[in-house]
Amino acid sequence: MNRSEKFDIAVIGAGIAGLVCAQELQQAGYSVVVVEKSRGVGGRMATRRVSGSRADHGVRYLEPTDEFLQQLINNLKIPKNSPDAEVMLRLWTDKIYQLTQPQGPIVPMAKNCYIAPQGMSSVGKFMAQDLDIWFSRRVQTMEPIAEKNWNLSLEVTSDGATEKPTEVVAKAVVLAIPAPQALMILEKPVAEIQPEFLHHLGCVEYDPCITVIAGYSPELQENLPEWQAIVFPNNDDLDWVGLDSSKRLHPAQPIFVIQSSAKFATTYLNSSDLQSLGKKLLEHTAQQLLPWFNNPEWLQVHRWRYAFCRQPLDVSCLTTKLPLPLVGAGDWCGGNNIESAFASGLAAANYLSQIKIGNVMFDS
Ligand SMILES: Cc1cc2nc3c(=O)[nH]c(=O)nc-3n(C[C@H](O)[C@H](O)[C@H](O)COP(=O)(O)OP(=O)(O)OC[C@H]3O[C@@H](n4cnc5c(N)ncnc54)[C@H](O)[C@@H]3O)c2cc1C
Repeated sequence: MNRSEKFDIAVIGAGIAGLVCAQELQQAGYSVVVVEKSRGVGGRMATRRVSGSRADHGVRYLEPTDEFLQQLINNLKIPKNSPDAEVMLRLWTDKIYQLTQPQGPIVPMAKNCYIAPQGMSSVGKFMAQDLDIWFSRRVQTMEPIAEKNWNLSLEVTSDGATEKPTEVVAKAVVLAIPAPQALMILEKPVAEIQPEFLHHLGCVEYDPCITVIAGYSPELQENLPEWQAIVFPNNDDLDWVGLDSSKRLHPAQPIFVIQSSAKFATTYLNSSDLQSLGKKLLEHTAQQLLPWFNNPEWLQVHRWRYAFCRQPLDVSCLTTKLPLPLVGAGDWCGGNNIESAFASGLAAANYLSQIKIGNVMFDS
């Protein structure tokens, strides 16, 4: 087996930014590899299989502008009005409720929320079609080598990925991962990279989030609240409670997804007992909403260290040509949501297409 494989462009991260970027570059004729540390695509656009169903424990919904929806659907290669588009993305609700004080009135806010009945990760799976993605490979370091190439060293993160080489050589690299994780990869070549590029990366800050997925007795199915989702502005512990099972076509039991506030997650970020954290969040939910939230049939907990970008940059992607072409992209460029991640992935692809990687030499 070869120790390394060569490409025009390596994209690190198979979240929405990395996937859209890789698709654009591949369609423009470049040889592209996507390296992903986990076993699936979508990144924070994540869905977990739970108790015979699915639950979105990352992105809750898409709230697209018309242009964004059109662009996303174009990218999914589905004509806007075809029945397939219905299956991939459908309107879940046109209002989200807001609770500003415990046991207070819940106030509706108009919002068109689109979801994927198969789970939000299915959007990522669709966008990943025809891409060469190396799963279970974490990029540990990267450094410039001879002939104007980057060399990426990969660590195997789980079984089943052993057939791929442990190094990737590429003319250009897209860091489609949260900025703090990008900085870790750049520790080795730090002296060779433009200080301004590193400075901007270092300015980006993220808030964490703890997510609970909880399943309740099917008997409650007849007795569910009228709302699909509630946000809790300014609450110390809770940020969001969503009736996730209402996104599915034939739910067998009520499943709720509860997301903590940034404050709660920061306080308990390094706790080793996730189940207790989950129970704590359910207690808070029961206090705010209905007592039976305290009595799930089962619960699962996920910790997001880099959940929401608190301090994004005011650029659509971060670029440098020194020592070699390197682009940062993701939700931390130009916003803090799926829409900015998508736009940033497109901007990164556009930038690399313009400076012409591969057979065409460019001035550095
Ligand atoms: C709980 C939660 C709820 C959210 N809800 C919403 C919502 O409702 N609406 C909305 O618009 N946004 C929401 N967001 C934010 C949204 O998920 C992100 O803005 C968006 O998904 C970011 O996409 P991305 O491609 O930039 O990064 P990511 O999705 O984080 O993708 C980065 C990928 O890189 C991989 N990776 C990281 N480091 C390495 C490495 N060293 N080597 C290889 N691979 C690596 C990761 O595994 C990941 O797959 C939510 C986020 C969370 C956590």
